Amino acid sequence: MDRNGLTVSVKEARKIILSSITPLEPEEISILDAQNRILYSDIKSEIMIPPLDNSAMDGYAVMAEDTKGASEKNPRILKLCGEIQAGNFSKSKISKGTCMRIMTGAPLPEGADAVVPFEDSEDDNSATKIFTEINKNDNIRFAGEDIRKGDIALKKGDILNPADIGLIASLNNSRVKVYKRPEVAIISTGNEIVDINAEIIPGQIRNSNSYTLYSEVKKYNAIPHIIGIARDNIEETINILKKSLEYDIVISTGGVSMGKYDFVKEAYLNLDVDIKFEWVRVKPGRPCMFGQKGNKLLFGLPGNPVSTLTSFIQFVRPAILKLMGANKINKPVVEAILEEDIKKKPDRLHLIRGIFTIRNNNFYVATTGPQGSGILRSMSNANCLIIIPQNITKVTAGEKVNIQLINHDEIP
Ligand code: AMP
Ligand code: MG
Repeated sequence: MDRNGLTVSVKEARKIILSSITPLEPEEISILDAQNRILYSDIKSEIMIPPLDNSAMDGYAVMAEDTKGASEKNPRILKLCGEIQAGNFSKSKISKGTCMRIMTGAPLPEGADAVVPFEDSEDDNSATKIFTEINKNDNIRFAGEDIRKGDIALKKGDILNPADIGLIASLNNSRVKVYKRPEVAIISTGNEIVDINAEIIPGQIRNSNSYTLYSEVKKYNAIPHIIGIARDNIEETINILKKSLEYDIVISTGGVSMGKYDFVKEAYLNLDVDIKFEWVRVKPGRPCMFGQKGNKLLFGLPGNPVSTLTSFIQFVRPAILKLMGANKINKPVVEAILEEDIKKKPDRLHLIRGIFTIRNNNFYVATTGPQGSGILRSMSNANCLIIIPQNITKVTAGEKVNIQLINHDEIP
């Protein structure tokens, strides 16, 4: 049987999806809730950070030229004329032959142009012995060396990490404007699908997709809602989709293939969803629908648990990030040395579950083993997807392949 409907490549599919998305509205939130949220507008600094030249060490503020020729055997002796603790400011000046005790972070007194660390000195409360020669500007942190007044400290579209949040705090903001989080409806379809804890009989299958997707959606900071399971009939499929259209994104799994009981396309048509594509030239995940109704995005992902997840990673994840205004939405792709032979048909792009390791500064990659699209274990073990282009039929161990990193916070 022919596959009617628009077939696209992975690249084309992503382009279609991303070009149909306008980012959501902004909202202002506490910086305490801002981790992984996406910045709505540039943050420009009105101040210098640090605001004043200050000491990078506990030690003595000096004029560097006063330390010339100083050594362990032949120390320079300077008159000690005060102490500056962090948090204080000294109005006195350093002049030739004098120094001031200074703590890390304390503002440098006028006249001083370097700091001698405590380790290289010794004092008896009136005079300080300097045991080493230092240069002008040594151990000083300069005003504005972190951020200058007028600098763009953070850019619109940045995904906020803990250091970014610290930066926002140091610019004296307790709140930050970020894009709203998309609300995502998650639907399973299938007569055979049974939820956790419900009694199961032979022939039925436990729902895993809803939970995989829930966690993926959460991982990108969108808001997941598990709507339920639709049985394989047109009425239930329409009803559950209709109900889900109050959310920004509707993801369903299953019911998009060529089976007699696959009703997602018919339901989309019934609901006037503008179908943008129905098939993707990729394995796993060929049946994969994307459509729009107004500004709502609908993804009809394939039912097999691995296909569901790889399709989510390729298509739904970028959509969520674009809706949230991110300016970086691609997973990293790197070259790796293949550790086993791979053969495939020249039918479509293959995404093969892989495990990469880094040895001697090289990426190596092996497959996770059998690649059936129902083997969710293979996805749970994988930290990358090996990308084999459509027209390639064989790659031999030792050759280089591209891998997309998918679960790489910790590297084996
Ligand atoms: P379908 O695309 O509806 O033909 O489903 C393909 C395969 O995916 C079937 O073998 C289903 O049992 C399985 N499947 C569909 N939905 C789920 C789900 N929510 N959780 C686990 N497996 C599923
Ligand atoms: Mg089904």
